[in-house]
Amino acid sequence: MRSSRLAAHPHRGLWAAIATMHGKENAIAPALCGWFEMTVTSAPGIDTDTLGTFTGEIARAGTMVDAARAKAKLAIERTGAHLGVGSEGAFGPHPYIPFLASGQEVLVLLDAKTGHEIIVHRRTPTNFDHEVLSPAEDPAPFLNRVGFPGHAVVVRPEDTADTSLVVAKGITDLQTLRRAIREIGARSASGRVMIQTDMRAHLNPTRMAGIARTAKWLAVRAARCCPHCGRPGFGALEVERGLPCGDCGAPTRLVRAEIHGCKACDHRIRRFERSKRSRAEARWCELCNP
Ligand SMILES: [Zn+2]
Ligand SMILES: [Zn+2]
Repeated sequence: MRSSRLAAHPHRGLWAAIATMHGKENAIAPALCGWFEMTVTSAPGIDTDTLGTFTGEIARAGTMVDAARAKAKLAIERTGAHLGVGSEGAFGPHPYIPFLASGQEVLVLLDAKTGHEIIVHRRTPTNFDHEVLSPAEDPAPFLNRVGFPGHAVVVRPEDTADTSLVVAKGITDLQTLRRAIREIGARSASGRVMIQTDMRAHLNPTRMAGIARTAKWLAVRAARCCPHCGRPGFGALEVERGLPCGDCGAPTRLVRAEIHGCKACDHRIRRFERSKRSRAEARWCELCNP
């Protein structure tokens, strides 16, 4: 079913290049090769750190999507591939669940010839975390929590505004970690250091798995073509709110339909539309329950 539907897909058999220094092609290629028989390569000689680093020496300009798009463009420029793929992640406290960290992954698939792009976002589990320690304290509880040494860590002075930025990255063994804590602690204004999870994909298997899941989502999204113009990437763009209140009939914040569409031609359809008779409970209504 999948293969027959995709036999005439516009991406079938194309060459996609990925700008990455962190082995992300290993996570992204399986979905694109499996679904579209693409040839997927990494784009050599691109320093993606110039577009922003997690540890803050270089700030990311613009949004996550801007950064991922810039990487996809670079991959095309450097290789001449038909398609460029850019990946970007962001990590922080979970927006809804207290004390839980959450990751956000973005993938951009850019068509070199038409400029048409398919963008997917996924929230992913993550080990993102940090702890402030003095060199005399035992880092073991933190290390166990974040999956060290399978997951690498970064050591820096406690005062992250410190512009001297002595940062030791990609640490995956206890001996190097102890030395980094001692040396950076000695140069830190407070005497303490901050240990953080290293979020670069090749040093963080949890993140790599999150990118692989996002790549599957990208394949699903790319597989669906616009019924009007035939470009790939047709799918959910936004939700339409305003399900009427069951008591007074005023529009509420509840979803009444999903809007699916195409970014190439602006074709739009409403999907999963609630029935004409469906109503929101009055507790969702700002008039009945302000
Ligand atoms: Zn279209
Ligand atoms: Zn009401």
